[in-house]
Amino acid sequence: MDRSIIHVDMDAFYAAIEQRDNPSLRGKPVVVGGSNPHSRGVVSTASYEARAYGIRSAMPLKQAYLRCPHAVFLPVNMTKYKEVSAQIHRIFRRYTSLIEPLSLDEAFLDVTGADAGALGREIKDRIKKEVGLTASVGVSHNKFLAKLASDMEKPDGFTVIPREHVEAFLAPLPVNRIWGVGPRTQEYLNELGIFTIGDLQRLDRAFLVKTFGKWGDELYLLARGIDDRPVKPSRKPKSLGEEVTFPRDVEEPEKLKASLAEFARTLGQRLKKRGLAGRTVTLKIRYHDFVTITRSLTFPDPTDQPEELYRRALLLLKKVELDRRKIRLIGLAVSNFLYPGEPYQLSLW
Ligand SMILES: [Mg+2]
Repeated sequence: MDRSIIHVDMDAFYAAIEQRDNPSLRGKPVVVGGSNPHSRGVVSTASYEARAYGIRSAMPLKQAYLRCPHAVFLPVNMTKYKEVSAQIHRIFRRYTSLIEPLSLDEAFLDVTGADAGALGREIKDRIKKEVGLTASVGVSHNKFLAKLASDMEKPDGFTVIPREHVEAFLAPLPVNRIWGVGPRTQEYLNELGIFTIGDLQRLDRAFLVKTFGKWGDELYLLARGIDDRPVKPSRKPKSLGEEVTFPRDVEEPEKLKASLAEFARTLGQRLKKRGLAGRTVTLKIRYHDFVTITRSLTFPDPTDQPEELYRRALLLLKKVELDRRKIRLIGLAVSNFLYPGEPYQLSLW
């Protein structure tokens, strides 16, 4: 499969945002994870200045404090980081709709058919110019190699791994540079005398399959730079809605309220199950003559709470003229979810 893949990985994302927004933090060790280093939290992101002291993501804050007591410890401002991530994704979408986010600060872009090197460079420049942050960008013909490339010259890196001589390029790299080889697999491979990807290339396919099962087959291919996994754009709902068509047209407000209470309960469960909370609530009414209207309200705080959804739905119901018009259908939807990489927008049912 002939693809062109770009992997974009923001450099020390949360810490870099804090340093961008507060110039007094620039050049200083910054640890995002909690403002109290003596609490039980862990490091979310450490600035490169903090990494110089051996501070790493997922390290307990207490340990980070021991390594660098004068570091600036900051709480995690997820709302802000998600907004910055959304801004970066809006840049991505100018170039392709085939975007697979791996986290708030990392994504694959499939730009097959375009000059991936030039595009990767341009995206990196646009992020710097418009968002004021540096990204490390890797370009290659598959996901594994693009991700490997973005890591080669981090931070502020730009690396293209060309199709030619991939096996020779990979050979000297340590075996844990293969995406998916964690400490356990690495340890096991080391015991077998496998330290570099080149060592792995010398192993027999059948032996790898016998030792690691299906993963052994993938290892065999990845060691040769072969990776056929497509970029999978995440399909996330823009809205969740419930509606009912009454068996007989309704005019009693109590019946409408009962339906809305029911929707609020169901929607609350559906939102919770997906870990979502929405800022916009929309009421849909279809009258007996099939005239359909929708009314929306957007609130500053997202919610997944049934009582709150019901309260918001009632506010909308009040806005609708109910005077003597029979209603055939009523619906309630929640939208405007806080997703990484997506602007707030409405698209219902
Ligand atoms: Mg990153």
